Amino acid sequence: MARTRFVGLLVLTIFLCLVAGQLRPSVAAPGGLPRDLFSLGIASRICTDRNSTAKASTDFGHMVQAAPEAVLHLATPADIAELIRFSASSPAPFPVAPLGKGHSGRGQTLAPGGVVVDMRALGRGRGAVRRRRRRAAVGRRPPRGAGARARPAVCTDYLHLTVGRTLSNAGIGGQAFRHGPQIASVHELDVITGTGEMVTCSGAKNSDLFFAVLGGLGQFGVITRARIGFEPALKRVRWVRLAYSNVANFTKDRLKRTLFEGPKSTQFFLGADITKLAGLASRFGSSTIYYIEGAMYYNEDAPALVDQLNFEPGFVFAKDVTYEQFLDHVCEEEMVLRSAGVWDVTHPWLNLFIPWSRILDFDAGVFKCIFRDANPAGLILMYPMNKDRWDDQMTTVTPTNDDVFYNVALLWLALSANDVDQLHRDNKTELAFCEKSGIEYKQYLPHRTSQDRWLRHFGVKWSRIIDLKMKYDPQAILSPGQRMFSLPVEAAS
Ligand SMILES: Cc1cc2nc3c(=O)[nH]c(=O)nc-3n(C[C@H](O)[C@H](O)[C@H](O)COP(=O)(O)OP(=O)(O)OC[C@H]3O[C@@H](n4cnc5c(N)ncnc54)[C@H](O)[C@@H]3O)c2cc1C
Repeated sequence: MARTRFVGLLVLTIFLCLVAGQLRPSVAAPGGLPRDLFSLGIASRICTDRNSTAKASTDFGHMVQAAPEAVLHLATPADIAELIRFSASSPAPFPVAPLGKGHSGRGQTLAPGGVVVDMRALGRGRGAVRRRRRRAAVGRRPPRGAGARARPAVCTDYLHLTVGRTLSNAGIGGQAFRHGPQIASVHELDVITGTGEMVTCSGAKNSDLFFAVLGGLGQFGVITRARIGFEPALKRVRWVRLAYSNVANFTKDRLKRTLFEGPKSTQFFLGADITKLAGLASRFGSSTIYYIEGAMYYNEDAPALVDQLNFEPGFVFAKDVTYEQFLDHVCEEEMVLRSAGVWDVTHPWLNLFIPWSRILDFDAGVFKCIFRDANPAGLILMYPMNKDRWDDQMTTVTPTNDDVFYNVALLWLALSANDVDQLHRDNKTELAFCEKSGIEYKQYLPHRTSQDRWLRHFGVKWSRIIDLKMKYDPQAILSPGQRMFSLPVEAAS
C-alpha cells in the first residue's frame, strides 16, 4: 500500500544539541513580556534562560525557527489558565503556544515574542489514563499495556505524540478508514480558552467549543483533558504486506478494506524479500511497487491469509507479532533512523487528502511524472478513508464530493541542503499540478501563510471559524505559529 524508499546514506547531520540545563526562574522581564508576569503565582515555573527558549524555538520539521521570550513548565491546567488570563487582560497581549512533543513540521508550536507552554507534565503523575466503562481520560498519549486489555478505537500510527495536539489536527492511522479519525471518538474535553476560562465541553454541553477545538489547530483553546472511546484489544496481530506493480489493482483492492486495519512500516522486509521485490520492479520496468499493509487481530488462532485480492502472485509477506509490538512499530523505525543519524534532519513533509475519483490522476502526475527519475529518502503512505466517519461539525476539513478520499503522506527526509531545496520545489510542483488538474485536495497538518490561503483551505467553514475565534480567543493569543490570525481578529466580511 505504500511505496517505500530506504535511507541508504549516512550523513553527518549537524543539529542543535541542547543540553538540559538547570532551569532558573527569571527575575527580569525579558523582551516584550510585561514585568508583572513575574509576580504571578506561576513565576517560578517561567524560564527565560537561553537553554529553555532555544529548546522551544524549532520543531521536528526543522524548517522554521523562532525563539519565544519564555517557557512555562506547566504543573497543573490552572497554570496555563493563569498565564492566558494575564496575557488577555494585558494592554499588549502576548502569544501563548502549547508545546506537546514538538512534532509539528512548520513552526506551528512556536510563539515568537510570547510564551511556549510545555504541556508534557500534564500526562505524568496520577496516571495519564483513567479507564471507566470503556472510555478513558487521557492527559498526554494513548495507553500502553497494563491492566485490562483495551485500546483507543483509533490509534495514530506513531504513538509518541501528545493527545492534545493530535486532537487539534484529527489523529489518523491504520484504523481510521473504519472508525474515523481520533477526533471522532472523543466524548468530552476540558479546554482552557483564549480568555483563560476553563470549560468542560462535549457534543451536548458547550458544543460549539467542543466541535471547534477538534481539528481546531489550537486556535480556540488548549485541551487539558480528553475522554475518548476505547475498544477491547486482542493479543496478537497477523501483519501482512501484499505487493502490487499495478496501481489500478492496488487501489481496487485497497477499497476491499473490511479485511484490514493497519499502519505501515519500513522495517518489515528481510534482505531476501527486498531482493525479490527488486526483481518484481525490474520485471515491470518500474521503480514503483505499491504495498497494501494489513493487520488482523486475534487471540488464539492466526486468521487465514487473504484471497480474492489482485496482488502479484507469490508476493505476500506475513509476520505474527504481539499487539503492543504492532502498535509501537513506528518507534522501532525511529530507533533505526536515530542510530543512523537521520532522525533529526529537515522534514519537508506534505500530507494531502485526495478525492477517491482523482487518485489515479494524482498517481500519474506525481509518482509517474514528477518523481519519475527522483528517489528521495523517506516514506510514502496512501490509504483511503470514509468521509462519513468525519463529523462535519468539527473544524477539520476533508475534500468535498467523493464519499472516499485518500490520505497521501509524502514523508521525506532531506539529507543535504540540496535535498531541502529540491523537496521544497517538488512539494510546490505537486500542489501546482493538483491546482492545474482541478484535483480538489485538502492539506492535512496544513501549512498556510496568509488568511487568504486559510480561507481557501476551510472554504464554507471559514466564517464560522472567525466567529468562534472572536468568541473564544478574541485577542488571537493562541498558537500563532499556525499563522491564521493576527490581532485584532476581524469579523468575516
Ligand atoms: C514521526 C511522526 C509521526 C506522526 N504520525 C502521525 C500519525 O500517525 N497520525 C497523525 O494524525 N499525525 C501524525 N503525525 C503528525 C502529528 O499529529 C503532528 O505532527 C502533531 O504536531 C503532533 O505533535 P506533538 O504531539 O509533538 O505536538 P506539538 O507539535 O508540540 O504541538 C504543538 C501545537 O499543537 C497545538 N497543541 C498542542 N497541544 C495542544 C493542546 N493541548 N491543546 C490544543 N492545541 C494544542 C498547538 O497548535 C501547538 O502550537 C506524526 C508526526 C511525526 C513527527
